[in-house]
Amino acid sequence: MADKSEERPRVPTAQVFPAAIRLPLVGLGTWTQRKPGEVREAVETALRLGYRHIDCAADYQNEGEVGQAIAAVLGDGTVCREEIWVTSKLQNSDHEPQRVEDACRESLQQLGLEWLDLYLMHWPLTGNHGPELKPSLEETWSAMEALVHKGLARAIGVSNFSTKKLERLLKQATVRPAVNQVEAHPYFRNMELINWCRERGIHVTAYSPLGSPHTADFFKRREDVPVLMQDSTLREIAERHGKSPADVLVSWAVQRGTSCLPKSTKESHLRSNLEAASWRLPDPDFQALSSLATQRRMLDGGWFLSSEGPYHTLEELWDTPSEVATSTVAD
Ligand code: NAP
Repeated sequence: MADKSEERPRVPTAQVFPAAIRLPLVGLGTWTQRKPGEVREAVETALRLGYRHIDCAADYQNEGEVGQAIAAVLGDGTVCREEIWVTSKLQNSDHEPQRVEDACRESLQQLGLEWLDLYLMHWPLTGNHGPELKPSLEETWSAMEALVHKGLARAIGVSNFSTKKLERLLKQATVRPAVNQVEAHPYFRNMELINWCRERGIHVTAYSPLGSPHTADFFKRREDVPVLMQDSTLREIAERHGKSPADVLVSWAVQRGTSCLPKSTKESHLRSNLEAASWRLPDPDFQALSSLATQRRMLDGGWFLSSEGPYHTLEELWDTPSEVATSTVAD
């Protein structure tokens, strides 16, 4: 059989504590509300195109399909397990320390894997209502540390954590959080958090790197929220370089040193998103995208707020002034 590895795009990688393999800076997002079979096909196509990083979560309710796709490419020798990076996430309802290992094992079973490269606490939330989060983030984190000691996860991390919440974990962690997966794109640069994580050796993965256009209806996003991929500066840059807006966004994310997770179910998009990681956006264009005035979350987590707590407001959830969480600010 001819060696096709030469034809596949080479994706830049980052060293992430303490995993021996490096994290490819473009991964495939698998969050979708689409029809059965779609994620399996997307993941298999992506792995055959050269993707080596798949972002999953128990909450996406499709890890079984992801597992079928992984089994297909492992089975025919396209890749070996050590060559791919698979992330999964602990869902909010599984934060009880005695549930954590079972939840991780359930994801592993669905994915058909013996270990995860990265297991994240999906949100700093448990679903309980009341003045305090129960169990605490620290209690859940301790149970996640045991997964590393047992060889079920090579690295552990968090998602949707503010610097304040991460600081609490760092005070007691015996296994450091390797990654914080958060929303990041030119309409929500999240620069302060990224710099803070970088100074502490915590890698940041950017979710919704294309501005999550497919979730506008799902989250009942207001019609006055601008759509990133239609931004005039972005479109002008893309046109001038003969690229698509998505190419420019992937390149921008990689140039910032973040990994990113563009989600797609279309082969042409999967291919171009991967190739975009190797194209360098000229500095003036990078700077132009790094200074767009619009700054707002596409996923603000408002659906998690409760008048009983633990988070009454977006300010409490994100530990930022509410205008930073919800509207326009500069870096
Ligand atoms: P996204 O990746 O920002 O946007 C996906 C949308 O962009 C889809 O509609 C896709 O449509 C389209 N698209 C992809 N490539 C394109 C291209 N080259 N040209 C034009 N359109 C393109 O959205 P996301 O799903 O919100 O975020 C990505 C991943 O991040 C998720 O799937 C998930 O893995 C992760 N995530 C994590 C969290 C968390 O709480 N940790 C939250 C949100 C997301 P097609 O399918 O038609 O290409």
